[in-house]
Amino acid sequence: MIRRTDLRGRADDATPDYRAVVPRAEFDVEAALDVVRPICDAVRHRGVEAITEYAARFDGVEQTDIAVPAEALRTALDGLDPAVRAGLEESIARLRRTCEAELEHDKVTEVVPGGTVTQRMIPVERVGLYVPGGIAPLVSSVVMNVVPAQVAGVGSIALTSSPQAEHGGLPHPTILAACALLGIDEVYAVGGAQAIAMFAYGAGPCRKVDLVTGPGNIYTVSAKRLLKGVVGIDSEAGPTEIAILADETADPAFVAADLLSQAEHDPLAASVLVTTSEELAADVEAELDKQVSVTRHVERVRTALSGAQSGIVLVDDLEQGLAVVNAYAAEHLEIQTRDAERWAARVVNAGAIFVGPFAPVSLGDYAAGSNHVLPTAGCACHSGGLSVRAFRKAVHVISYDEPALRGVADHVVALAEAEDLPGHGAAIRVRFDQEA
Ligand code: NAD
Repeated sequence: MIRRTDLRGRADDATPDYRAVVPRAEFDVEAALDVVRPICDAVRHRGVEAITEYAARFDGVEQTDIAVPAEALRTALDGLDPAVRAGLEESIARLRRTCEAELEHDKVTEVVPGGTVTQRMIPVERVGLYVPGGIAPLVSSVVMNVVPAQVAGVGSIALTSSPQAEHGGLPHPTILAACALLGIDEVYAVGGAQAIAMFAYGAGPCRKVDLVTGPGNIYTVSAKRLLKGVVGIDSEAGPTEIAILADETADPAFVAADLLSQAEHDPLAASVLVTTSEELAADVEAELDKQVSVTRHVERVRTALSGAQSGIVLVDDLEQGLAVVNAYAAEHLEIQTRDAERWAARVVNAGAIFVGPFAPVSLGDYAAGSNHVLPTAGCACHSGGLSVRAFRKAVHVISYDEPALRGVADHVVALAEAEDLPGHGAAIRVRFDQEA
């Protein structure tokens, strides 16, 4: 079901290009751009009319209104299963603890006497949060988006998720209940690329936002890439990936269950095992056969595990394994090896790192206190996961008095001359020439 790649013996190559040989999806964000461009253009020019046409085409829903009424939010919260409510409350409390600890406060630096630079952390004014709802109602993504935005101090928060035919064209009731629990009252029933375009340009009742965050499928993420600049985005958090670095000490049942758990997200999800042990590889394959045969979403899981984006990679030793996972830059990386902490400390590219046999990705998906909105498709080499920082801007406030400016005036003038921008120098001199 899952293919193998054998990299043993490659570590001695002059500069092994592991990025080129690790499993990758054939249909990627770049390819999906051609699909989402006309969708985003249509929403830009025709607004709600285009949105409702796409809801009919992709979600099988006839909509008259894209805004979720307040009454539906209240009813959903009233009807929420108490066990799910307790789970949500625990998840919210843990993530809030982490977010509050991460809050950066304004920093004042006295560069010279009379000259200060203050880094002010200013919340983004209005954000649009995306919660996936096409394949599964990701209520946990409501928490992962909303909590850091609220802790950051964002003033205006809108949230959207796909309309569901079986729920009268509204998002799934559990998603609505989570919004109500968190005090979010501006909610839309719009999914995919058209939702990102609605946030970027504004449409009907939804005012344009400054920043869009949240995970999604290949179309949602592709729209984020296309509209970046028109609107701010967090990272490209697309179809889920898990990489597991494991040696012979790993438990094959744990490894197989974790590979399966992420394959369950999307037929395009990627599950990759990088191991030094041929025996573990064989045991994990046997476990996968066993576990997949009894899993609920068997077709989705089989498609993901047998796709070009998934595989077992055999390596000579953990040193080579580390090089491979760093090149792959997975969204989620589990370390299931002897001395797991030590190997984890040397990882430089991963969206989130899960250390040891009792920190599975599923824990992080719901209730570790970490954020599950994470960069995919190699973006973990330049971006981290969603956090309070994403919802705030670090703005320098410059304050110099006259002696402080006089002290640096000659340097500024010299640098302005070097750039052939004499007007810059003149703007300094004028302040002192007037005094003379
Ligand atoms: P989604 O809500 O982003 O997309 C659903 C929408 O896609 C639909 O409403 C529809 O409008 C649109 N769509 C469907 N088929 C289309 C087509 N052929 N052309 C254009 N648009 C189309 O996502 P989903 O489908 O529910 O999947 C959730 C995704 O989110 C999975 O890929 C999962 O792995 C991912 N995810 C990622 C992270 C992360 O942090 N990276 C976290 C959680 C989930």
